Amino acid sequence: MNQKYEAVIGLEVHAQMLTKTKAFCTCTTEYGSLPNTNTCPTCLGHPGALPVLNKSLVDYIIKMGLATNCKIRPISTFSRKNYFYPDLTKGYQISQFEDPICYDGKLEIELDDNSKKTIGITRIHMEEDAGKSIHDLDIDTLVDLNRCGVPLIEIVSEPDIRSAHEAYKYLMNIKQIVMYLGICTGNMEEGALRCDANISVRLRGAEKFGTKAEVKNLNSFRNVEKAIEFEINRQIQILEDGGRVAQETRLWDGAKHETRSMRSKEFAHDYRYFPEPDLVKVNVSDSWIDSMSKEMPELPYARKQRLISQYSIPAYDAAIMVEDKYLADFYEEVCSKLVNKNERNYKHVSNWIMTEILRILSDKNVGINEVNFNTLHIAELIELFSEDLISSRIAKDIFPEMISDGKSPKDIVKEKGLIQVSDSSAIDAIVQKVIADNPDTIEKYKAGKTNVMGFLVGQVMKEMQGKANPKIVTDLVKAILEA
Ligand code: ADP
Ligand code: ZN
Ligand code: MG
Repeated sequence: MNQKYEAVIGLEVHAQMLTKTKAFCTCTTEYGSLPNTNTCPTCLGHPGALPVLNKSLVDYIIKMGLATNCKIRPISTFSRKNYFYPDLTKGYQISQFEDPICYDGKLEIELDDNSKKTIGITRIHMEEDAGKSIHDLDIDTLVDLNRCGVPLIEIVSEPDIRSAHEAYKYLMNIKQIVMYLGICTGNMEEGALRCDANISVRLRGAEKFGTKAEVKNLNSFRNVEKAIEFEINRQIQILEDGGRVAQETRLWDGAKHETRSMRSKEFAHDYRYFPEPDLVKVNVSDSWIDSMSKEMPELPYARKQRLISQYSIPAYDAAIMVEDKYLADFYEEVCSKLVNKNERNYKHVSNWIMTEILRILSDKNVGINEVNFNTLHIAELIELFSEDLISSRIAKDIFPEMISDGKSPKDIVKEKGLIQVSDSSAIDAIVQKVIADNPDTIEKYKAGKTNVMGFLVGQVMKEMQGKANPKIVTDLVKAILEA
């Protein structure tokens, strides 16, 4: 990016709430039902049908407000935001306008260089989703109204974000928080979390913000980062060429890696917001807020700090564990099953997760909560090699069998005779043999090519089917070479 300029970014994030029923009727929010079966006169907008607010939605948004240090408004109201869309049969969306239930919050993000930054949260409000037009199933456009009335919260940030990287971190934080609160799956690819990015650029040091463009259709974390980067550069190029940035809504094209104009910006007055006459005001008492505070779980940042102090693992490891609540749960469960609960083993557990477990998850493209690992067996396996009873090579080798057959690693090791040999005299005999078999390698070593030692250690390990304690092998080979 051209250093003359600075980017200014504000994000609008929609999160689909995991309530059992819709925002204003008792239809199920279940995903994957036959099209148009989860509907009723209220969510379809039949004249005369009356909405009733789902209390769980208010519980959830209060929790989100508390998690992001927002003020909670004691009395807030709903408004109608008017649209004409085939997938919005009511002709309007019930939303909140002047008096969102949560406002004036903040979120602290940690950047890759470990510095911290606070992003202001302007507001968080409740609204309902629209249905879905389906263009690719038939020659005609079809419509599925199951999603009409599914509850959303919209989290609007202050224009405090200054780079694509910061936007990514902010969004990742939001995702982690909604998942920890259990109010949203956080899945961007499935549309449960959606993000629109407002982007402008200005000369570094300038006080006034530039004209912003709003980019939509960002359906993955990678796309958010790439689209913001593209848009920043596009706007800088316009300014450098002496032009003016247009205030408009742009669409990210993930295939072409570019944003393109969708429509010129619409303004609040275009929606003809007016108070929703069919719903009463939302009254949130102090005792309601109190009871929600009591239900607040440990949030990602606090959990990261606790993992660092309780298990003495590096901040890097802790950050990876807490990124996914289920992974952190899994980490703590394996640790709880260790016989020897010490720092060394705790670190082995995080190493094992960061390498073996995450590899399996990414190969299978699943989350840790979708796989049934036996945490006791994993703890046993880690202790086997941590105590030098097997080599880490063998631990990795038997791991697939352990998970596919559900066998205990101790049984596998016993059955196959894989217990590590730590008896120096047994190892020494093989070391002597390997040295005798490789006179030219010894010559090379003496001539200064010390890296041949790895070859000799490898030969010994091979002779002993990987069962020799590698540290003892290394020590013995070294002693002979340096004699
Ligand atoms: P609008 O009236 O166009 O919807 P809002 O003031 O409601 O604009 O802001 C929408 C989002 O855009 C917020 O996240 C806000 O932080 C962000 N935003 C506002 N002005 C700018 C700007 N000049 N550059 C980048 N983002 C901005
Ligand atoms: Zn309904
Ligand atoms: Mg706005």
